[in-house]
Amino acid sequence: MTDINAKVLLIYTGGTIGMVENPETGALEPFNFSHLGSNVPEIQRLNFSVDTYLFDPPIDSSDVSPAKWQEMAGIIEDNYEGYDGFVILHGTDTMAYTASALSFMLENLTKPVIFTGSQLPIGKYRSDGKENLITALEIAADKDPDGNPMVPELCIYMQNLLMRGNRTMKVSADDFSAFNSPNYPYLAEVGVDIRYEYKFILQPDYSSPATFNYALDHHVSVLKLFPGITPEVVHAHLSVPGLKGVVLETYGSGNSPSAKWFIDLLHEAVDRGIVVVNVTQCLYGSVEMHRYENGQKLQKAGVVSGFDMTTEAALAKLMILFGAGKTPDEVTRLMPVSLRGELTQR
Ligand code: ASP
Repeated sequence: MTDINAKVLLIYTGGTIGMVENPETGALEPFNFSHLGSNVPEIQRLNFSVDTYLFDPPIDSSDVSPAKWQEMAGIIEDNYEGYDGFVILHGTDTMAYTASALSFMLENLTKPVIFTGSQLPIGKYRSDGKENLITALEIAADKDPDGNPMVPELCIYMQNLLMRGNRTMKVSADDFSAFNSPNYPYLAEVGVDIRYEYKFILQPDYSSPATFNYALDHHVSVLKLFPGITPEVVHAHLSVPGLKGVVLETYGSGNSPSAKWFIDLLHEAVDRGIVVVNVTQCLYGSVEMHRYENGQKLQKAGVVSGFDMTTEAALAKLMILFGAGKTPDEVTRLMPVSLRGELTQR
């Protein structure tokens, strides 16, 4: 139910939704927000109020960084008391990374934070941006009969689907359905009505305040396995000075080559205090290292299971845990534990 007294803050960070075509090069470039406003007069017809905050300059999301995530979290914290919900317009390219990071930075979230974007600029006739924007605003303003927000979670809304942010991946560079949440049910599906799936939505503790964690440690990386990977590549990767955590993208249910050199290099890295998290290259399903002998070798080397976490969520979780000053042992213990609904708890 839309709360007619609701106030939503719309934060425009950049991305296609607010882009225009450079007449000389034909490339899409970030433009300013007045372009977006003039193309969506419907915003003025919503029966709740919407204020805007603009990133200056707006960015292509390929340029996003932990510093930008801190900026976004800061805008939400500064405006938290004054608004019922937040909509963040963000490029789709790295939206799943940003949504994952922000989900860990914002703790005990008691208000909706809805990310959306579009595949076509909002000014184009066939743009998917208008519906994404209007529905995201409605979701941010929706309340249950007790007056609590319908979705006190950090989500991505795209092409009729509302998804938990830290469960999403960008799955298409072309389709309007650019995102999916392979290992967690949708929080809402949108048709004539917005059909919320209450049982899948996280509930905060309304008696405690939301807290904001800004410290992120960048000493992390992603290593994707491929047949033919050499000792030189793995060694170089694990020897990066200062490295604290690695997301290891493995095959199937968490398997890797069983070659002694490979297992030894990982073991050695773990012994040096590097946390290696195993996530699968598959879109669906979970890491189960005990299932095959090759997986068991990783387990014995001290690799920790990321279960059904996305790479984006695992990376952000390493950044936030090391940022909070946790030791490698503490990070190893917390990686397989659900902090914000980012993995299916075993
Ligand atoms: N390159 C754009 C971005 O991520 C694409 C988009 O907005 O969808 O900022």
